[in-house]
Amino acid sequence: MRAALITGASSGIGLATARTFLQNGCAVLGVARDPAKLAAMKDACADLDSPLATAALDVMADNAPECAVASVLEHFGRLDHLVNNAGIGSPKPVHETDDETLDYFLGLMLRAPFRMCREALKAFGNEATVVNVSSTYSILGGLRGGAYSAAKAGLDGLTRHMAAQYGTSGVRCNSVAPGVIPTPMTEHRLEVEGFRRMNYDMTPAARMGTVEDVAQAIWFLSSPQSGWINGQTLAVDGGWTTTKFLTESALEAERALAPTDWTHSGKPPKRKDNE
Ligand code: NDP
Repeated sequence: MRAALITGASSGIGLATARTFLQNGCAVLGVARDPAKLAAMKDACADLDSPLATAALDVMADNAPECAVASVLEHFGRLDHLVNNAGIGSPKPVHETDDETLDYFLGLMLRAPFRMCREALKAFGNEATVVNVSSTYSILGGLRGGAYSAAKAGLDGLTRHMAAQYGTSGVRCNSVAPGVIPTPMTEHRLEVEGFRRMNYDMTPAARMGTVEDVAQAIWFLSSPQSGWINGQTLAVDGGWTTTKFLTESALEAERALAPTDWTHSGKPPKRKDNE
């Protein structure tokens, strides 16, 4: 039985990913900090037959990669898949980001996955995979992206390097870039009408994305079905990043706003909404 190490497995996308791997007959070691949430994760996966173990670790700790990889080997005797998913949201723009926040975002979402990859490489068998959970904010600028965008774009760079460097050793590395998905990380932001509206108005879909949408993509990129895919970043966002879609109401608002200022002054309208 193949074995996966999934960070941030106690909540949201990580929890759905752990369930998906278990459903597909893969053993899982779930990593997160809070033992109570990990215990709840075990309960949430109790209906599934594949073996699940957990390790309460801060992925930013110096010894976290060694502990996590040792734990998966101890429980399952092998390591085939790494999913670097642990992360936080609520980014701020550059001018509002202090050094502490910058270091925290880069430490959690770039340095920690880098170090996890380095340790996992020592344990991987043949045909191993890494999936890094990036973000659409790595592909687009993203207002307020700041350190979050920087970390996630770095993670995509790491993804492509890993693919180039270790492909001939049978290790594939890809990333998924979710759009906004309701999870504990985003629930407070989704309470804000403007944030909800931005996502709804720019997504050519009749529903929100779900944690299962992302989990299925991560599983696909970890499974032999994606065997010829390496070094890619797959946006899982209902088309948000690629389509430049606007709902009818957003289009009408845009049409109503744009022409007057242009024709009267001959200059582009001064944007007020970002101030
Ligand atoms: P959640 O807040 O639901 O889950 C985050 C998970 O990461 C929890 O299990 C948390 O557990 C764990 N975690 C956080 N910090 C650490 C740490 N230092 N060490 C170990 N584990 C940690 O978030 P999501 O499921 O929404 O996000 C998962 C990933 O998806 C993140 O990388 C995020 O950036 C990315 N993403 C999410 C999007 C969304 O809209 N939800 C959109 C784009 C990307 P604990 O607190 O106990 O450690």
